[in-house]
Amino acid sequence: IKIEEKLFQNRYRVDEGRPHIQISDPQVCADDCKTQSCTFVCPAGCYVADEKHEVTLTTDGCLECGTCRVICSEHHNVDWSYPRGGHGILFKFG
Ligand code: SF4
Repeated sequence: IKIEEKLFQNRYRVDEGRPHIQISDPQVCADDCKTQSCTFVCPAGCYVADEKHEVTLTTDGCLECGTCRVICSEHHNVDWSYPRGGHGILFKFG
């Protein structure tokens, strides 16, 4: 089974209007971050960079792994918390 197929088995309860992760200052991503590692380390592909070097974050498919929080240790530009109770990922096994 492919990773994409496994990810498709997960379910999410989205907390509309209250993303549990935010980019603190988008300008830091665009101007100061050379690697933009979040765009390729996130296993769910939540971070996407465009041709202007600006990074967009969509948390709906987030696996709550914390990788983006750790990888952004140089700029500390990820405001990370777990979703509120009853929201976020529902892992489906089997
Ligand atoms: Fe992606 Fe993990 Fe960060 Fe969620 S916590 S946005 S899955 S790197």
